[in-house]
Amino acid sequence: MARYIFITGGVVSSLGKGLASAALGALLQARGFSVRLRKLDPYLNVDPGTMSPFEHGEVFVTDDGAETDLDLGHYERFTGVHARKTDSISSGRIYSNVLEKERRGDYLGKTIQVIPHVTNEIKDFIRIGDDEVDFMLCEIGGTVGDIEGLPFFEAIRQFAQDRPRGQCIFMHLTLLPYLAASGELKTKPTQHSVKELRAIGIAPDILVCRSEQPIPEREREKIGLFCNVRKDAVIAAYDLKSIYEAPLAYHAEGLDQAVLDAFQISPAPRPDLRKWEDVVDRIRNVDGEVNIAIVGKYTQLEDAYKSIKEALTHGGMANRVKVNVKWVDAEIFDREDAAPHLAGYHAILVPGGFGERGTEGKIKAAEFARTRRIPYLGICLGMQMAVIEAARNVAGLTRAGSEEFDHEAGAKRFEPVVYHLKEWVQGNHVVERKVGDQKGGTMRLGAYDATLAAGSRVAGIYGSSHIEERHRHRYEVDIKYRERLEACGLAFSGMSPDGRLPEIVEWRDHPWFIGVQFHPELKSKPFAPHPLFADFVRAAVETSRLV
Ligand code: GLN
Repeated sequence: MARYIFITGGVVSSLGKGLASAALGALLQARGFSVRLRKLDPYLNVDPGTMSPFEHGEVFVTDDGAETDLDLGHYERFTGVHARKTDSISSGRIYSNVLEKERRGDYLGKTIQVIPHVTNEIKDFIRIGDDEVDFMLCEIGGTVGDIEGLPFFEAIRQFAQDRPRGQCIFMHLTLLPYLAASGELKTKPTQHSVKELRAIGIAPDILVCRSEQPIPEREREKIGLFCNVRKDAVIAAYDLKSIYEAPLAYHAEGLDQAVLDAFQISPAPRPDLRKWEDVVDRIRNVDGEVNIAIVGKYTQLEDAYKSIKEALTHGGMANRVKVNVKWVDAEIFDREDAAPHLAGYHAILVPGGFGERGTEGKIKAAEFARTRRIPYLGICLGMQMAVIEAARNVAGLTRAGSEEFDHEAGAKRFEPVVYHLKEWVQGNHVVERKVGDQKGGTMRLGAYDATLAAGSRVAGIYGSSHIEERHRHRYEVDIKYRERLEACGLAFSGMSPDGRLPEIVEWRDHPWFIGVQFHPELKSKPFAPHPLFADFVRAAVETSRLV
């Protein structure tokens, strides 16, 4: 049976709970333990799939097709453990399960209440797969005291009580604000936050304190005394230059030791941190930099493209260069010429997206990269736009467009080179969709295989003719344009195994121009950069040497 670490937050949001959880997972792995990380989110959406990226940042997709919180991306990047559907839950999902059971009559006439029905549903979820790993790390979204979070806090309190003693610990993240006027770190908000937690029956074993200033010994003692936590379980979390320094920084502060102490695991296995030392070395010691433009729609919120940003960093690490990302709003060149905005970058990336706004600008970005011979990586919508650009400007299909935009306008303005997918094969069954289907969870989601053409650039990059990548889209490039586009030089170099769905396109006589229907960024790790990102950054380095 797994040991459980429950991670909560207080004082303010955005303290980096997800990152602390992921780094702790990595440290426990470094000591030879197996881990799984889970996120419990109090909001009422069934999953974040239907939320705007402006609301919630990126939607992270798992192999088994769940649309989850972006913290699951951190978990995977730090531990390499692929998340599953059962690693992400929201109040919305919990309530919808409970109500479904109520309608089925499963509760045998009982009155359905938060305690025990909702809390039981949460506890059942927490318990899934607990015989598979040494440690299960469960992060509760939001901050202690939020109305929506209460059933989750109550459920983890009960959970720890149900288990044998010593099987669950609680780690709480807080903030120590610094008052410049008095030159002091203030511990009161932390004290209040712990008080709030204790009022609902949870006594933290470990406190992780975010602070911009070193925490003096005296303050640690005070926090320990007032919050009823051992002094060496008061862990400082300072700001870091790179998130990938977090495992080593937390180790230096004694986080993993404090966790093992709390579980009374002794002697503690010695950690092997070489993997993380190499990662940090690759970030700190670089031989140059490249400038890459990301032409997207949600550019005001970097979290909307979290995994892409991280995958580019990993690509930089693979080549020992620093990648400077410039966010360029695609809508600017819906109206204006792209050239002045894109000149000077060593590579251009057009990420995924939904809806028509900004797409003419993305098409111009693809044209700019093709004609100026700048490395281009188009992801999902970025691939679709590259195909539309090729159809319009090279193959002479001047009205080429995507059905996605015609649905919105309710008119047939475009020749649908990209069309609404109604049927496809997943494993050994056929999935069917209609245009009017409900929006949540109905896209082509999760891991699918693709076959790569022998001799293509992508087959060389992957070093394989068979790949598996994660998808999240409703529209697809229409195979019926393949011949015409290939005759112009746009190779369909990756296809679904049944040969019906184009997965990758590449311009044959371009230094580096690749569009992929899937999301390679979701599988990149700092210690195992994704081959497409590693090679894309390599191509950018080459461009930088030419200018
Ligand atoms: N909107 C496009 C589709 O649904 C692309 C989706 C994406 O980029 N993730 O096919």
